[in-house]
Amino acid sequence: MILRARVILPISAPPIEDGALIINGGKISRVAPFRDLRPPARETILDLGDVVVLPGLINAHCHLDYTDMAGQLSPPRAFTDWIASITAAKTGWSYSDYARSWLTGARQLLSTGVTTVADIEAMPDLLPDVWMATPLRVFSFLEMTGILSRRKPREILAEAVEKITSLKHPRNRAMLSPHAAYSTLPELLRQTAAVARRRRWLVSTHIAESEQEFDMFQHATGAMHQWLGRNGRDNSDCGRGSPVAHFARNKLLGENVLAIHVNYLARGDATLLAKNRTHVVHCPRSHDYFKHTPFPRQRLANAGVNLCLGTDSLATTRQSGKEKPQLNIFAEMRLLADRDIGASPADILQMATVNGARALGSAGQIGQLSKNAAADWIALPFAGKINKAFESVIQHPGRIHAGMIAGKWTISPP
Ligand SMILES: [Zn+2]
Repeated sequence: MILRARVILPISAPPIEDGALIINGGKISRVAPFRDLRPPARETILDLGDVVVLPGLINAHCHLDYTDMAGQLSPPRAFTDWIASITAAKTGWSYSDYARSWLTGARQLLSTGVTTVADIEAMPDLLPDVWMATPLRVFSFLEMTGILSRRKPREILAEAVEKITSLKHPRNRAMLSPHAAYSTLPELLRQTAAVARRRRWLVSTHIAESEQEFDMFQHATGAMHQWLGRNGRDNSDCGRGSPVAHFARNKLLGENVLAIHVNYLARGDATLLAKNRTHVVHCPRSHDYFKHTPFPRQRLANAGVNLCLGTDSLATTRQSGKEKPQLNIFAEMRLLADRDIGASPADILQMATVNGARALGSAGQIGQLSKNAAADWIALPFAGKINKAFESVIQHPGRIHAGMIAGKWTISPP
């Protein structure tokens, strides 16, 4: 199949005007200017016309199973208040509520150009059924906690490993997610690090999301420290350095680790993350929902950290007006562009494509349009000049014109 488009943004190479994408067996076999194709090859083209074609977007952090909580939890005063509200919202939810919610989220992502998602699964029983019900590429990270349930780290981890090894799917994989520093014991982090290293698994974990978490680990003070202490957490690991330092001490920083949020840094943390090749995932709308201090993007980028983009869940997305919010990476890109004038449209689009691929150990396979990469691409309406293509992508509202995953239509052109 040959696609022709006004502009192609391979991301891994410069933009191409009047471009062609040749797809064979679910993969890309060539990306080139249309005029470079020899005439016989031009016979079976699908001319998409005035569109920009780019790689399918990579959402490096999501909680699909919370999608139907959209608009239900108003922004809290403190992070611990939010934990209480989501815990309350979850009571009364059944397996089918979570399944429906997960699939609604998957549909929202597909219609807004995401082709790969790194999802946290609080309900691992949904797998593999929900995988089978969507064409989306899913890296599922099984959530592990254990403080309030007072379960032993060894048992929690063994249960997750057993679930992961039982799952078979042609494309999707499950991996580990110790939830966060405050919601786990250090032993769980250490054991997760060892298992993930041995099995070459990825790990996704929330790090330094809130100021309360930062105070808990850095100073052994604050509302979160007190609340968890009251609920039986042995807080003897607090007061010994920042949340990032806590993960370093427990050997859970590395090339296989996606550090979610990283909103609050102590001196030296950015370097520590970079030295350990840990990837950081920024979720702009979730960041806005909690009114965190500005995201230290420049500091992390200067240190050499690979930065990715995620939506987080709709339980941490502000509702504006009557319409419920939807999962939409374009909305995340736009908000980041508004809040951080130092981030260029090209930088932001890299975060949502090649950088996410690298974090998921899939560089060269997804997140870019190049020979031998998967034929995961999306098309957006675009009639402008080639030098405005990146800006136009960032400003795109959401719904895509057309798209494919592994050479199969997810959204056919109208
Ligand atoms: Zn999250």
